[in-house]
Amino acid sequence: MKLKIQGLNFRYNDRLVLEDINLEVEEGEILTLLGPNGSGKTTLLRCIVRILNPERGCIFIDEKQISKMKREQLARKIGYVPQSESSSFPVTVFDTVLMGRKPYLSWNPTFKDFRIVSEVLHLLGLEEFALRDLNELSGGEKQKVLIARTIAQGPEIMLLDEPTSSLDLKHQLEVLEVVRSLAKEKGISVIMAMHDLNLASRYSDKLVMLKNGKIFSIGTPEKVVTSENIKSVYGVEATVYNHLQTPYVVPEKPLSANFIIKT
Ligand code: ADP
Repeated sequence: MKLKIQGLNFRYNDRLVLEDINLEVEEGEILTLLGPNGSGKTTLLRCIVRILNPERGCIFIDEKQISKMKREQLARKIGYVPQSESSSFPVTVFDTVLMGRKPYLSWNPTFKDFRIVSEVLHLLGLEEFALRDLNELSGGEKQKVLIARTIAQGPEIMLLDEPTSSLDLKHQLEVLEVVRSLAKEKGISVIMAMHDLNLASRYSDKLVMLKNGKIFSIGTPEKVVTSENIKSVYGVEATVYNHLQTPYVVPEKPLSANFIIKT
């Protein structure tokens, strides 16, 4: 399944937040959106999943415009994991993940739906949480449950908004390994928004660096993660090493840092 974005602009009221976005994600490819806070990563993911409607431009899945697809059709193709989500009523982890099966349920969940949910809970090491209330989990545990719900949905394209932001090091790597195996073994196309340049370089086939809503750089991690780009986009001096054919960033200090602390 291939996703293509052509000439996309998005505006919140009269403020242009995304401008002339063009990109493609092939089947089984992992593309990561980078860029400072407010550069438009979440807005772009929300346009792809049709929570937001672009002012201009088109998004295609296998040459078909998503604006012309039915909601249920899109829900079977695209899974979206937002940055955070809470439920105002008690709901177990098992039921939350089962909700991922919603695009396939006619009335009652089937044995197959329950089996898929159990498999996904096992895959993400969440079995011990199955009967716990979602609202009683830590931020990181909750994030894993939301990822599990999207995997249970069986999408062909997965959108993940900062999937590792509240996870500790081990869980960050676990989640990204799961994402990588979904891409490489099941051919799922992945678009993630991330802040960690090193993890993004290590786990992505392609990177898109956004600056003020525009694509500043797009391509392989080696092409995008350079000292020059980091300086221009983040305003930070950094040395970029090559570690096992992957860029490894060691930041120095922000160009604007000139703090004097008087005691
Ligand atoms: P990122 O995910 O890169 O941090 P966002 O896509 O969240 O960036 O935000 C892009 C820009 O749009 C920011 O300037 C932000 O303040 C603005 N923005 C985000 N959500 C809204 C909203 N609901 N209404 C108006 N402006 C918004």
